[in-house]
Amino acid sequence: MSANEIREQYLKFFESRGHKILPPSSLIPYDDPTTLFTGSGMQMLLPYLLGTPHPEGKRLVDSQPCIRAQDIEEVGDNRHDTFFEMLGNWSLGDYFKEAQIKWFWEFLTDVVGLNPSRIYVSCFIGDEPNGIPRDTESAGIWQKLFAEAGVSNDIAEIGSAANGDKRGIRPGERIFYYDDKENWWSRGGGIASTPVGDPCGPDSEVFYDFGEEEHDSTYGLAHPASDSGRFIEIGNQVFMQYRRTADGFEPLKAKNVDFGGGLERIAAASIDSADIFKTDLFWPIIKRIEELSRQKYSDNKPAMRIIADHIKGAVWLASQDMVPSNKEQGYVMRRLCRRAILQGLNLGIKNDFLGQIVPVVASIYGETYPDIAKKEKEVVVVLGREEKAFRKTIDKGLRVLVRFATDGLTGKELFMLHDTYGFPLELGIEEATRQGVKLSGNWQAEFDEAMEHQRATSRTATKGMFKGGLEDDSETTTKYHTSTHLLLAAMHKVLGPEVEQKGSNITADRVRFDFAWDEKLTADQVTKIEELVNVWIKDDLPVVHDEYDTDYAFDTLHAHGSFREKYGDKVTVYTVGDDKNPVSREICGGPHVTHTGELADGNKTFKITKQEASSAGVRRVKAVLV
Ligand code: ATP
Ligand code: MG
Repeated sequence: MSANEIREQYLKFFESRGHKILPPSSLIPYDDPTTLFTGSGMQMLLPYLLGTPHPEGKRLVDSQPCIRAQDIEEVGDNRHDTFFEMLGNWSLGDYFKEAQIKWFWEFLTDVVGLNPSRIYVSCFIGDEPNGIPRDTESAGIWQKLFAEAGVSNDIAEIGSAANGDKRGIRPGERIFYYDDKENWWSRGGGIASTPVGDPCGPDSEVFYDFGEEEHDSTYGLAHPASDSGRFIEIGNQVFMQYRRTADGFEPLKAKNVDFGGGLERIAAASIDSADIFKTDLFWPIIKRIEELSRQKYSDNKPAMRIIADHIKGAVWLASQDMVPSNKEQGYVMRRLCRRAILQGLNLGIKNDFLGQIVPVVASIYGETYPDIAKKEKEVVVVLGREEKAFRKTIDKGLRVLVRFATDGLTGKELFMLHDTYGFPLELGIEEATRQGVKLSGNWQAEFDEAMEHQRATSRTATKGMFKGGLEDDSETTTKYHTSTHLLLAAMHKVLGPEVEQKGSNITADRVRFDFAWDEKLTADQVTKIEELVNVWIKDDLPVVHDEYDTDYAFDTLHAHGSFREKYGDKVTVYTVGDDKNPVSREICGGPHVTHTGELADGNKTFKITKQEASSAGVRRVKAVLV
């Protein structure tokens, strides 16, 4: 089935079951200052899910264009976009689990024609301390449906996703119970973060099995909620049936259903390809990029996926009258354009090309979303202007870089190249090396400092525009920054002193950390690393810094720093713990907390949430303080 047919059939299917079809909302929420983009179908229906009667009734259906800027780093894999469409249907105090599960199943198997034996599902395992029972109701409905289709229907108790990575699945298993990290919905996240007064409840997710050849074993054994690539989530049914009270959870009288499913992913399942970029929502764009670059998709998948996704997102935004700028949505749009252009450069596309992709995007969506076709010419102009300007700044950046050549390049200049000229740090360093420009001074520390400063400023400026905790985001990023030092120190203890940091990236939600290592960390190693970091946090060790001669820092203090040849004469050294026998000693520009206990912020602990291969010989972990 083509994606257009799937969308149309989905709307029809639910319309014939009493649902009103809602027109798609704009990508920019018009009445919600807390978020930049529409990122799900339920976003603007939230007031109705919280109790306000909807003018169109109790059964609603739509297909909603979404942008998840927070997924930008995921783009490049086989299943994530920044722009995607979410099919959605809702029951506002009307039908519940029985009808929802049955209908979605019928839609997938009868209408789209998916093979029942390749569909797997998850349900909520329950939470005894909070008096929330296991969702045996959903599991029972699924069991019956699978039995009727003549496929196995065994139930597996998994618990946490990490446990699933170790346990895997056993023959016959079809329905998987996971904990609240996977199968609980509230506006705050898991059970403990459910806001008082809010509706919440278990969810049941649906996965498609793309086969063992898609399984990446660096993620552990395969099971539905793993990110290993074999099972891909195609839809999520949320059953809002409880309300959080001051001292627990009570059943709701009017229960809601909120379903959301990715059109790109259902289309991928329908053509039996784990790669959403092979669907007709993307393939014509990929083909065009192949022509423009004279390269093959099969050799350049991440780059071409990023280009295709980002240009598509920018086209959609432009068709809704957005223009690239330096703030908020315009800034995201600018990033999409620039990242696409830079990836294009890597593929050898040196001339303006965004405009040439616009008609391809228009032909994919024009029939369903006439605005995209109508505005094609304007969109070409907007994106063309941005591309021209960016290529100019790249050229200018290259010239500035040459001007610095005499005295060498400092961290501040690298930051300026990055910030003003849009030069990514790696490209700056690469270009400098290529042109024989010396990196002088304490460039890494200076760069980090300038970056941190800018982050703190822009965070304050857009405070409230992003998901965040109670504290200021820059406080959180500082804590995460300190946690990277503890992480590296723990790796030195558990894996060996040769482990070298290859990069890190910190947001208010998590830290990403790259390090030189050839294989997947074992579960045991991960546990030991986490334990060490948590012991150090508990010990509330002092964090102090001082400036030293670079040679002294390396040779006498044995401080860690990844770019010895690139530091200047003096460096700043951060020491955690006892000065004679420190836990960690690193060359770094800061900022850091003054005591490791601040990372606990009450009783938070450090947890590694994800690990993957980054590039040859480099592993990547993501970690959080929760
Ligand atoms: P994932 O874990 O794969 O990132 P998610 O848990 O973030 O998915 P939901 O927030 O439940 O997904 O969104 C509902 C559905 O939307 C998912 O089941 C999936 O099919 C689709 N979806 C979510 N994020 C993306 C994305 N970045 N690109 C394409 N489809 C997506
Ligand atoms: Mg996601």
